[in-house]
Amino acid sequence: MSGGALLADAPPPAATEQPTEAEWAAAVSAITKLPADGRVLLICHVNPDGDALGSMLGFALGLRRMGVRRLQATFPGRPEVPEPFRAMPGLDLLVPATEADPDPDLVICFDVAAVSRLGDLADRLDRAGASLVLDHHASNTRFGGIHLVDPDAAATSVVVEKLLVRLGVPLDQGIAECLYVALATDTGSFRFDMTTPAVHEMAARLLATGIRPGEISRRIFDTRPFGAVRLYGDVLGRTQLEPLEAGGRGLVWTYATLADLARHEQRPYTLEPLIDSVRCTAEADVSCVLKQVAEGEWAVSMRSKGAMDVSRVAVALGGGGHRLAAGFTGYGSAPEVIEAIRAELGRDGVALDRSGADAKAPTAGRQDQE
Ligand code: AMP
Ligand code: MN
Ligand code: MN
Repeated sequence: MSGGALLADAPPPAATEQPTEAEWAAAVSAITKLPADGRVLLICHVNPDGDALGSMLGFALGLRRMGVRRLQATFPGRPEVPEPFRAMPGLDLLVPATEADPDPDLVICFDVAAVSRLGDLADRLDRAGASLVLDHHASNTRFGGIHLVDPDAAATSVVVEKLLVRLGVPLDQGIAECLYVALATDTGSFRFDMTTPAVHEMAARLLATGIRPGEISRRIFDTRPFGAVRLYGDVLGRTQLEPLEAGGRGLVWTYATLADLARHEQRPYTLEPLIDSVRCTAEADVSCVLKQVAEGEWAVSMRSKGAMDVSRVAVALGGGGHRLAAGFTGYGSAPEVIEAIRAELGRDGVALDRSGADAKAPTAGRQDQE
C-alpha cells in the first residue's frame, strides 16, 4: 500500500543502501500480478528534465511490450513538453495531469525525491492500489509503498534498466533512446564524476540497439531557437562575478525575467541549460541562475565545482538537491534572493574543501546529478 503522502516532506533519511532483493521482488510482483485490465499511472517530477521524462517513457514502453494496455504517463503542472524532448519515443502515452487516472491500480514515480515534486498528483499515492518509487536521490524521503532508490545510480534510468531486466523485457530502440536521453542528461553527457565504467557499459547496451547518439544529443543539448540564442546573450551579459563571496571561492550569478522571455518570445524551459554557460566561470566555485516565475518569485538553480555544498544552501532556503547541483524557490527581488544565498554560503558546514568545516563528508563526485 502506498501511504506517506500526507507526511509531507519530512527531513530525509539519507539513502545510502542499494535496493534489497526483497524490494526488487516486491516491485516485480507489483507489476506481474497486475490484473489483465490493470491501470498503471506513471508520474515524473514537475518541470521534467531528460532523466525524469526518459526514465518514465522508457519504462512505459517496456510495460507496453509486456502487454499492459491501460497505461498513462504524466507530470504535474502545465502539460508542456520542452521542445528538445518532443521527438521522444512513447510520448503518445503522455496525458495532462488533469486527465490522469484518479485511482489507478498501480502508480509508479520516476526521479521524484519528495512528494512536493509531485504537485497536485500527490493524492494518487493514497488513492492507488499500490505505489512504486524509482529514484536515485540520496535525499529520497521514501514516500511510496515499494522503493527502488539507488543513491549510487547516475540516473533514475539505471534503476529502470535493472527493473526491465528483472521483468524480462528486452531493450528495443524506443526504450533505449528514452533511457539514453536520461543517462546522458544526468551525467552531463558522460562528463561528471559519476560516469563510471558501469555507466559506459549501460550506454553501450543502449547504443547496441542502433540508436543514433549524435542525432539525439544534437536534439537534446545542441539545438535552440535563434530567439533563445539572443536571450542568452542578454542574460549572460548581465552576469556578476563576486570573487570574495563563498568564503573567497567565488560566486557568479545572473537572472532572467519574464520580460526577457517575452521580449525574445521564449518559453521558460529554454532557460534550463543557462546554468551550464554560467558555471564555466573559472573564477567562481558557486554559480547561480535566478529564473523569474512570477512577480517576486524565482526558480533558482545552483551549482558547485566541489568546494561548497550548495544543497545546504538550497535546503536552508526551502529547496533541495545534491551537493553540487541544487535549487529552491526564491522570493523577493533578485538582489534579495542573491543576498540570502550569500548569507547561507557563509554558514558553517557549507564549505566542503579541506579548509572547510565539512572535511569528513564523503567525496562529492556523484552528487552532481539531477
Ligand atoms: P536544477 O537546477 O533545476 O537542474 O536542479 C538541480 C537539483 O536541485 C535537482 O536535483 C533538483 O531535484 C533540485 N531542485 C531544484 N529545484 C528544487 C526545488 N524547488 N525543491 C527541491 N529540489 C529542487
Ligand atoms: Mn535524475
Ligand atoms: Mn530530474
